[in-house]
Amino acid sequence: MSLNAEPLRKILELECKKGYVDSAVIGGLDKFLHNWAGQAVESITSPQLLRRFNKFHLAKSDYASLSKEQRKEWIDSILGFLVEVEGGEKEKGKVSPPEAVSKPTPKPRAKRAAAAQSIDSPITIVKGISSTMAAKFARLGVKTVRDLLYFFPHRHLDYSQRKTISQLAEGTEETIVANVWEARETRLGGRRSTEATVGDETGNVRVVWFNNPYLVKTLTTNTRVVISGRVGVFKGRHVFQSPEWELIEDRELVHAGRLVPLYSLTSGLHPRQVRKLMKGVVDQWAWQVEDFLPPELIERQKLLELPQAISQAHFPDDEGMKTRARVRLAFDELFLLQLGVLSKKRDWQEGQPGNAIGTDKAVLETFIKSLPFELTGAQKKSLEEMLGDLGRPQAMSRLLQGDVGSGKTVVATAALLMAAASGYQGALMAPTEILAGQHFSTICQLLSAVAKPEETDDYIRVYSELLSRPLTVALLIGAITQTKKRGLQQRILDGSIDIVIGTHALIQKEVEFYKLGLAVIDEQHRFGVEQRSALRQKGFNPHVSVMTATPIPRTLALTLYGDLDLSVIDELPPGRLAVKTKWLKPAQRKSAYNFIKKQISEGRQAFIICPLIEESEAIQARAAVVEYERLANEVFPELKLGLLHGRISTADKEEVMQRFYSGELHILVATPVVEVGIDVPNATVMLVESADRFGLSQLHQFRGRVGRGQEQSYCMLLAENPSQVARQRLDIIESTLDGFQLAEEDLKLRGPGEFFGTRQSGLPDLRMAKISDVALLEIARSEALKLFEKDKNLQNPEHKLLVKELARVWTSEAGEWS
Ligand code: ADP
Ligand code: MG
Repeated sequence: MSLNAEPLRKILELECKKGYVDSAVIGGLDKFLHNWAGQAVESITSPQLLRRFNKFHLAKSDYASLSKEQRKEWIDSILGFLVEVEGGEKEKGKVSPPEAVSKPTPKPRAKRAAAAQSIDSPITIVKGISSTMAAKFARLGVKTVRDLLYFFPHRHLDYSQRKTISQLAEGTEETIVANVWEARETRLGGRRSTEATVGDETGNVRVVWFNNPYLVKTLTTNTRVVISGRVGVFKGRHVFQSPEWELIEDRELVHAGRLVPLYSLTSGLHPRQVRKLMKGVVDQWAWQVEDFLPPELIERQKLLELPQAISQAHFPDDEGMKTRARVRLAFDELFLLQLGVLSKKRDWQEGQPGNAIGTDKAVLETFIKSLPFELTGAQKKSLEEMLGDLGRPQAMSRLLQGDVGSGKTVVATAALLMAAASGYQGALMAPTEILAGQHFSTICQLLSAVAKPEETDDYIRVYSELLSRPLTVALLIGAITQTKKRGLQQRILDGSIDIVIGTHALIQKEVEFYKLGLAVIDEQHRFGVEQRSALRQKGFNPHVSVMTATPIPRTLALTLYGDLDLSVIDELPPGRLAVKTKWLKPAQRKSAYNFIKKQISEGRQAFIICPLIEESEAIQARAAVVEYERLANEVFPELKLGLLHGRISTADKEEVMQRFYSGELHILVATPVVEVGIDVPNATVMLVESADRFGLSQLHQFRGRVGRGQEQSYCMLLAENPSQVARQRLDIIESTLDGFQLAEEDLKLRGPGEFFGTRQSGLPDLRMAKISDVALLEIARSEALKLFEKDKNLQNPEHKLLVKELARVWTSEAGEWS
């Protein structure tokens, strides 16, 4: 490994800056120097330099015991020496390449290579990493020295507590320091192995290493060795079997006698080898990672400095340091994430002016009065928040969260109406064509109560008598003919359509607006930060509201939707009967079917969700057809059933939905992939097959399809053979109707992977941060806000490194936004 004087210089300069109080390095400067010197000396080949270098006695330094004056003098002299060495190199046009110390007259080729080395160099610059090995690291996503530094162990073994041999207890992980009395090759289980006897002042113990005869050469008599591992018993006596071991030399321990890192490796990489490599890399390079956090933030939050955090995350001095390292690194992740989402928000709020859309109070009042119901308090509050945002010249970006059936659509409609009343266009986007169609008819229905329909077409409605001009609402979906679609697009472009409803894709890709003022995005699980940005690129910087029925705990909301403000409709319209939920045993299937028959005979309708099949959509579709035929022919031969699955054409889907909506079909059979986000108040039964295999939030979504009318509704969950965890889930969903509570439970039971799957959401990777880091996340967010307050565009030179780091984490992972 080539050596660079840079880390030494940095540490010493830091020590100066801190006032020579031996605080530059955790664990003290001496420890760092001893380590550093061991490696430096190896790489100095010039005898003259080596002689001068040795005068400083770095390998045996005793900085801790010096007076402050002595410390200053000593450090100054070393820094002077380094300046001399580095300066000499700079004259030759090089910045302190490691060989500067070792090769006074380097060959030009070697020199060039050395000068190019940085922590962003490929890992092959590390001595001991061949290109074959680099390929193995690449499989772990590790390509540069920086990647290697950020390749943290998944856990540590605590070998830091030393015991004497007499204190060893069977079955526990123990560490001893002992003398090798004898090591010999032996055969164990037919394999060549090593067997040793080691001892300390309290006794002797046997140690064996299976399948490893080579240790005999290393463990010569009287060498001192650290052994860490589980204590076993063989023939009544203690024995260590293939423990970690390390010779006691002047260097810091790596494999034993400390908190030993365990890395998640791929085949062909060996733990001992990687650990040793890592120690070298960390010692040499961690100090060169520039700390991108503003110093006063580090101070305020009592965080470790970045180089220390990285080095302690790999080779912690103790548990306390390990924790502090994790906190610092997790803070970085959360802080950068918050900075990223907040800067996106800033970009669209400040980057281009938005449109202040006033509230036409008369129109709003007329509309609200015409509704067949009174708005709930939560709806009123959310609407007020939205209208408040619309009135400001910065573009709104608001998440409207509300449980299924809480009445988000009417709130969105009122806001869209206000945009139209002010001469802007509004857009409502749904994830599927079915939902878009349903929104269209819902909105038209609401408007019909208050305005006079003039032109009625399947895809366009014109209303008079509400605004001072006609109000035109259109549905733009793939099912309509090309000619018609082009006609609609033309009318959206020339501004004669006020409110357009469609799918995400249509509005994103094909449609240009005359004057888009407000975009409402419904059920946007698939609508990430980047898509929201794309929408804003359309030129008008519209106000954006995202509606979701998936309750997201606050931690996640801040993370996944940190760029949005939050409105919550936390109240259901009054008079709703709670959906009765029951988890049924397989033997009760027949009675479930009978129950459905009875409900239908009373004039109700039912949903049946097909079993979850995790294979391809095609296989799932085929299975759904089989299930549908079984239900239609054998179970409900006298009833009318419809089928929805992912392979059915949009037009056919639409037709089936329409027939169910109109009451012509009694039962709608659907695969879980199909959005059944439709509002059929007459449907009172939801039967979910293989319910044990769905998450709580998803089951709750299914259940939300019923209970929308005046009649008592029921949700029946069938589970063939639920696991322990699944039983727990089913119990919870049976007893809880609160979507937020279910989401929290879901997180606890399934872990954050599903929700926090940051790759999926297009956010930077979180390695150190955990879902439970709520407090840290709040701190990170408030620090990020504070920073933007002080330096809105992060132009301040002291934030240069931060900006660089931000660009690094947000571009490397952000390829796949979904
Ligand atoms: P969400 O989209 O939030 O799941 P919807 O907007 O589809 O809910 O509303 C569900 C049903 O409740 C609709 O039939 C709607 O007309 C009705 N609704 C909405 N608000 C109220 C209210 N304040 N009182 C009574 N019914 C309401
Ligand atoms: Mg809805």
